[in-house]
Amino acid sequence: MSEDPKDWQDQTRLVRGGLDRSPYGEISEALFLTQSFAYESAGAADRRFSGEDAGFIYQRFGNPTTQMFETRMALLEGAEVCRATASGMSAIHAALQGLVRAGDHIVAAKALFSSCRWILSNWMPRFGVEVTYVDATDLAAWANAVRPNTRAFLVESPANPLLEITDIRAVADLAHAAGAKLVVDNVFATPIFQKPLTLGADIVVYSATKHIDGQGRVLGGAILGNEPLMSEAYKDLLRHTGPALSPFNAWVMLKGLETLDLRVRRQAENAAKVTEVIAAHSRVGKVIFPGRADHPQADLIASQMTGPGTVVAFDLGSQEAAWRFLDRLEIVDISNNLGDAKSMATHPCTTTHRSMTEAERLEIGLTEGWVRMSVGLEGAEDLSRDVNRALDQA
Ligand SMILES: *Cc1c(COP(=O)(O)O)cnc(C)c1O
Repeated sequence: MSEDPKDWQDQTRLVRGGLDRSPYGEISEALFLTQSFAYESAGAADRRFSGEDAGFIYQRFGNPTTQMFETRMALLEGAEVCRATASGMSAIHAALQGLVRAGDHIVAAKALFSSCRWILSNWMPRFGVEVTYVDATDLAAWANAVRPNTRAFLVESPANPLLEITDIRAVADLAHAAGAKLVVDNVFATPIFQKPLTLGADIVVYSATKHIDGQGRVLGGAILGNEPLMSEAYKDLLRHTGPALSPFNAWVMLKGLETLDLRVRRQAENAAKVTEVIAAHSRVGKVIFPGRADHPQADLIASQMTGPGTVVAFDLGSQEAAWRFLDRLEIVDISNNLGDAKSMATHPCTTTHRSMTEAERLEIGLTEGWVRMSVGLEGAEDLSRDVNRALDQA
């Protein structure tokens, strides 16, 4: 065979990467709902457990369907290894836990998904790991936060919910100068529009729940990176703590990956069109969409992303106006999820970011008038009309 999947375009990787057919020659990836595997002899079991023979042992360690998902994700990301997890949060938790031990220190962006903030602020300190938060756009702040015991940097770019962009190359250089690893939560960018490993990140994490499923069905997550870090930091941790992705969910995600490129690109086009409507409306203050020329970090976006993502954020000035807008929407759902085929909008202060204190919210510029909208696959004219009417009545 002369074809090497590593030379394929993303679109080919998404449809065929990792495909491992059974003797039946099925076209659609097989779903292996099996917890364990039978061995031909006691000696064969011994060789499997010793690692002498390759092969599956137990679903917590690996499964053929889950492995197809992992291989496809690794090809897409340009990573040597992908480990699938049961949710995005189990991926982020394990990604950090595998890099630190008692007495270590993490530097993290202030603007993070709120459960990530909880892990850093409420969980890590229980194990003697300290955390410093920085304004991720301020490179001097990252450098100043470094201590001799800093082991990991964590950043989300674009960040939730106000889509601020971090210079991943520069932050990776600072992490490496400090002897630390950079972990990037790449959910908002998607693997279609940003490849953090090529920008110097050590580990990339996803909530596959978002665009990778993209159709509102199952939870999943992924940790990606290169050897030897992936084995050293995560192999035993994942095997013995058990945040394994269900093979059923892996199968759903494999089907999601087949259409990921199409969906994300169409959703990004729709998001750009809806953003024009939002930006033109007199009720709207600030609008943030990474595809707009007026984004304060447009040059940085052009240098590290190949597309804008599918989420737009805008300020209606007050909670009352934001709630009126949401309540007047007829097509777009009120929901806190994102990356879905169905458009949805949320009021971060009272939903996704309510566990932050007001002071913490103000530090990331999240005032009560902000709305975050994830744009889906509906017709752009229908979405624009729905949003415009709701803005008229906000
Ligand atoms: C949703 C999300 C997560 C958490 O993922 P789950 O699959 O819900 O556990 C983490 N980071 C970001 C940026 C997210 O949007």
